[in-house]
Amino acid sequence: MLKPFRFRQRAPGRRDVVIEIMYCGVCHSDIHEGWDYGEGRFPMVPGHEIIGRVRVTGSGVTRLRSGDIAGVGPMVGCDRTCDRCQRGMESYCANVVWTYNDTFPNGTPTYGGYASHIVVNEAFAFPISPNLPLERVAPLLCAGITTYSPLKWWKVGKGTNVGILGMGGLGHLAITFAASMGAKVTVLSGSKRKEADARQRGAAHFIVTSDRSRMKRLEESLDLILNVTPAPPDLERFLPLLRIDGTFIQIGEPPADAELPLEELAARKHVTGSIVGGLAETQEMLDYCARRRIFADVELIAPAQINDAWKRVLNRKARYRYVIDMSRR
Ligand SMILES: [Zn+2]
Ligand SMILES: [Zn+2]
Repeated sequence: MLKPFRFRQRAPGRRDVVIEIMYCGVCHSDIHEGWDYGEGRFPMVPGHEIIGRVRVTGSGVTRLRSGDIAGVGPMVGCDRTCDRCQRGMESYCANVVWTYNDTFPNGTPTYGGYASHIVVNEAFAFPISPNLPLERVAPLLCAGITTYSPLKWWKVGKGTNVGILGMGGLGHLAITFAASMGAKVTVLSGSKRKEADARQRGAAHFIVTSDRSRMKRLEESLDLILNVTPAPPDLERFLPLLRIDGTFIQIGEPPADAELPLEELAARKHVTGSIVGGLAETQEMLDYCARRRIFADVELIAPAQINDAWKRVLNRKARYRYVIDMSRR
C-alpha cells in the first residue's frame, strides 16, 4: 500500500539538475521492489520512467538548461571508470546506483519518480524535445531501453525471426522496435485478447501459447526470443522454438531458479539475460523513437490512483503502461 510521504531530496551539487516531475511511468519492477521482493528499503519512493522540467542547474551543468524537458531512467549513478562503464554498459556496472531503493556510495538513499521533484547528475538526465507527447515518452526510459538494447545487441535486422514472449508494457514496445528494425515478429501470448494491438504494432504472427499445434509448427524457426513476462520462463517449452544458434533472452530480474534443458542447448542454443541499457544507448533509443514516432500506449492516472493501478498491472489489465500525471496532485 502506497501513501503520501514527505521527504527532502539531497542537496544539488555542481553537476546536478533539479527536475520538477511531470510524468512517471509505472513499471512492473516498482511493484516487484515495493511489494514482493523482500529486499525493499523503506520508506521507498518507486518510479524510474521520469519526465519533467529542469528547474535548477548546478554551476557545472552543460547538457541542460533551466526550462528544458529531461528524462530519467533506472540509473542515477555508476563509477564511470570500470570496464563496463568505459564500454558504455553502465547498467552492468558493479557500482551502479539505481534510481530508487538504493543508496549512493556516501549512504544517501535514492528516491524515485513517484514524487514532485528529483535531483540527478546531468549525465543521467536525457534532454527530451518538448514537442513530443511527453506522457508517452516516459515509459521509453525503462521499458523502451530495456527492449531496444537486447534487440540491437543481438543484431536484429531484416530477415531476423524474433519471438516476443509477453504482450505488456515491455512487450508492446519490443514488437514495434523489432518490426521497425526489419524483423519478422511472432508474439507468444497467454490469450488472444491483445492480438489486434500486437498486429497494429507490427507483429506478423500472434500465437497463443496453449495452442499446441501452432507451437509445434513454430519449432526451429526463431532466431531470438525475448522473454518480457515477469514470470519465470518455461524453457522446456520455448527453447524448441529456436533455430540452431538461436538465443533466449531473459529480460530484467532473473527468476530464482529455472531448469536448463541441456539437450536443447546442445544444438548451440543460448540462454542469456539483459538489463536495461547504457547511457549513450538510451540517448540513441530516444532519438530513434523521436525520429520514427515510436511511443508507448499509456493510460494517465492521478497519484491518488496508484494503488489501484498496481493491482491492475498485477492482474494484467494495463493497456499498456500507466503513467502518473503529477499535475493532478
Ligand atoms: Zn522499469
Ligand atoms: Zn562502472
